Amino acid sequence: KGIKKYFPIHAGLLRRTVGQVKAIDDVSFTLGQGETLGIVGESGCGKSTLGRMIMRVMDPTEGQIMFENQDLTAMKGKALRGNRRNFQMVFQDPYASLNVKMRIGQIIAEPLMVNGVMTGAQARAEAARLITRVGLRETDLTRFPHEFSGGQRQRVGIARALALNPKLIVADEAVSALDVSIQAQILNLMMDLKKDYNLSYMFISHNLAVVRHISDRVGVMYLGQLVEIGEKESLYRHPLHPYTQALLSASPNAKRGARREKMILQGEVPSPANPPKGCPFHTRCPHVMDVCRSIRPALVELQPGHAAACHLYEQPGGHA
Ligand code: SF4
Ligand code: MG
Repeated sequence: KGIKKYFPIHAGLLRRTVGQVKAIDDVSFTLGQGETLGIVGESGCGKSTLGRMIMRVMDPTEGQIMFENQDLTAMKGKALRGNRRNFQMVFQDPYASLNVKMRIGQIIAEPLMVNGVMTGAQARAEAARLITRVGLRETDLTRFPHEFSGGQRQRVGIARALALNPKLIVADEAVSALDVSIQAQILNLMMDLKKDYNLSYMFISHNLAVVRHISDRVGVMYLGQLVEIGEKESLYRHPLHPYTQALLSASPNAKRGARREKMILQGEVPSPANPPKGCPFHTRCPHVMDVCRSIRPALVELQPGHAAACHLYEQPGGHA
């Protein structure tokens, strides 16, 4: 609710604060139990920062993160540590996130032992169960990360994330480093696991096709703001925000034959240290109006379960 994350910009010998980067600027959304919410946007839009705040490895500057009616942002110490188990993360590069000196069995069992959930023998048995659940073999437990392919390492990363029986997994570009054929296998595995474990996912990616495959709902971020959010089919078939429309028309996976005018994004993404006033997209929007340069449009539900932040829809009969 109303999440902001501002980073100070320092300059000079005295490292005086000379400005701030608005990495996340007033973002609100919900994620239901058992739901996969995709978050898409170009690099630097703040989607990873958002994921890290949901994980509670970073504090928001303002706003609340509610989980099962508890305010995580107000929680400290033991209560927060107790809650952290509910959130796990799967990263883009499983090799970088796995300790290369540890055997796979230790890597998967580690969170169980660190959190005092299980003894060594129990944790080893659980690791054996988890490794087969993600499609690897029990004999793989004694091997090291470098002996595995990228896809296999991501299976290990997922097994490790599952060990503490989390409720929410934040996956940040979880398949982006993998070959396309392997991407589909990992996405399908994640979808199976979601059912088995009643998981919820926040699936962060720049890849629109991947997000479409796995998500129930999708949010689109631009320059630290959520500009559109909706049910997957509604959003992909009838994108409302001009930025989403441009993203989808530029996507190589845009449906062939779809009667969507090709709208190539013009210009660069402005710097989040010096974001445009008003609508963050106004410097690149083909529909820009005067009002867009001064007033930030609110995120408004325009169709059931589908909201966008764009002044076009405030005009009588307006549409993009
Ligand atoms: Fe374009 Fe204005 Fe809508 Fe922003 S508010 S997307 S500039 S029409
Ligand atoms: Mg990122």
